[in-house]
Amino acid sequence: MTTTSTTPSLDIFDEIEALKREQDATILAHYYQNGEIQELADFTGDSLKLARAATTVSTGTIVFCGVHFMAETAKILNPEKRVLLPDPLAGCSLADSCPAPLLKRRQEALRAEGRRFQTVAYINSTASVKALSDWIVTSGNAEEIIRRVPEEFEILFVPDRHLGSYLEEVTGRTMILWEGSCMVHEVFSVNDLLRMKRRKPDAKTVAHPECPANIREHADFIGGTEAMIRFVDRFASPTEFLVATEANMLWQLQHAVPRHTYLPVPGITCACNNCPHMARNTLEKLRDCLKNGAPEIRWRPEFDRAAESLRRSFFE
Ligand code: SF4
Repeated sequence: MTTTSTTPSLDIFDEIEALKREQDATILAHYYQNGEIQELADFTGDSLKLARAATTVSTGTIVFCGVHFMAETAKILNPEKRVLLPDPLAGCSLADSCPAPLLKRRQEALRAEGRRFQTVAYINSTASVKALSDWIVTSGNAEEIIRRVPEEFEILFVPDRHLGSYLEEVTGRTMILWEGSCMVHEVFSVNDLLRMKRRKPDAKTVAHPECPANIREHADFIGGTEAMIRFVDRFASPTEFLVATEANMLWQLQHAVPRHTYLPVPGITCACNNCPHMARNTLEKLRDCLKNGAPEIRWRPEFDRAAESLRRSFFE
């Protein structure tokens, strides 16, 4: 029977720790989860680090605190394990911007034109899209994978047009870009960023490659969340950083490299850029999913083909 609790317990941290042991579970949390969830997690990371971590866990259950496509990826890479997601409605605007039937139609149209191409999908995509793709990339390994695509093929890159255009810049490969974007990274305010830079001329700006070009062009460093941590760690003395990515990343930066000060670059519509999908996961839902063994990601037929693309990209 499914149970939920409406009164948050003062000991919810202890409760989750106890349930984790009882259920033989490992908790994985993305850097965009709130700090309390990251604190409880056995592994924190970006999509690539977590996908790899998921293959190393020894427990029978993985609780994935992130969004749906991430938990799906953990299941695809660990078919024999039970994978739980605290809130099954934790989706992703970027993944939603590339429905598999539309991608299939686009691929068929390109083939009908006689074009030879390979499809490279950002990991922020559904399993059905991964199943239609030759390669899967994260912001951490995208450059390396793009360089592995033979020159005689064009590249159809889905779904993030901003990451795609950044990859065109750094690899020199022209790509056919899907018109998708992330609702969080799309809305950073360039005017606010420039104002902050004027007020703090010594501050360094770090931006995620999912940001549009008008933000990236003002950054001192462009990279995924894992690369951001490595970049700020290179600065030995305390430094101010203006950070253009999901706001919970500031918790992880502060935790990993506490000698610096991190300031969020605001969005056009709000002072900080939190992903509403990531925010669906709460401590209470984490506890309840451990208690109930649900919601669970179940195997679906398209996972077989998606697994081939993921393994080729991440493990070969
Ligand atoms: S931050 Fe953007 S890409 Fe990441 S889960 Fe949220 S909507 Fe998707």
